[in-house]
Amino acid sequence: MSVSENIKKIKTELDTAGVELIAISKTKTPAEIMEAYEAGQRIFGENQVQEMADKYEVLPKDIEWHLVGHLQSNKVKYIAPFVSMIHSVDSLKLLQEINRQALKNNRVIDCLLQVYIADEDTKYGLDHAETIELLRSEEFQELKNVRIAGLMGIATNTDSELIISEEFKDLAVFFAGLKQSFFRKDDGFSELSMGMSSDYRLAIAQGSTMVRIGSTIFGERVIKHWRAN
Ligand SMILES: *Cc1c(COP(=O)(O)O)cnc(C)c1O
Repeated sequence: MSVSENIKKIKTELDTAGVELIAISKTKTPAEIMEAYEAGQRIFGENQVQEMADKYEVLPKDIEWHLVGHLQSNKVKYIAPFVSMIHSVDSLKLLQEINRQALKNNRVIDCLLQVYIADEDTKYGLDHAETIELLRSEEFQELKNVRIAGLMGIATNTDSELIISEEFKDLAVFFAGLKQSFFRKDDGFSELSMGMSSDYRLAIAQGSTMVRIGSTIFGERVIKHWRAN
């Protein structure tokens, strides 16, 4: 099927569930992204700062760009003027830098805290204790140009639907607890970004509000990065 057929099909499914589609366009060309855009998609996710900034330059300005990959503090400045949401905040230090760059651009940037849920040796994400420590800290309270809109998690890469569902369920329970403890007066803490091509239906069953889907829309990724020149 074509990109536009894939978008329409998956949109219909997600609209029924009330879940937002983040179309993960990493490695894909602006022409491929335009095919999804013309099918009505406006939210795209990338995992590389340079690639996202290059695509922002050449693509329509009503696209909302979400960063879903690991972000180094020294690169925040390249996306701070336009990024809609950063899904991969995994330290207070990074959040402070996002706040600093958002202030420079006179913006408030929506962020998700990436929580480590997989039974794997991945490098990124906060554990539960670190997440709570961050939200409790005075340093965090002082940040006025970032808004914590929710949590993001990546499940273990396994064939076991049981393991994946348990990990998503744990994240959903943790999310509800944090909302109750830290965000009671503020309904801005409302997004649970979980689910990719292989596991988004399991994620939705556990309460996901945003799914990050790449290969099901655009096909397999065959190159490492798209570059403007
Ligand atoms: C690439 C990526 C996705 C999408 O993966 P697919 O399996 O192609 O749907 C989702 N989330 C993150 C963080 C990614 O890097």
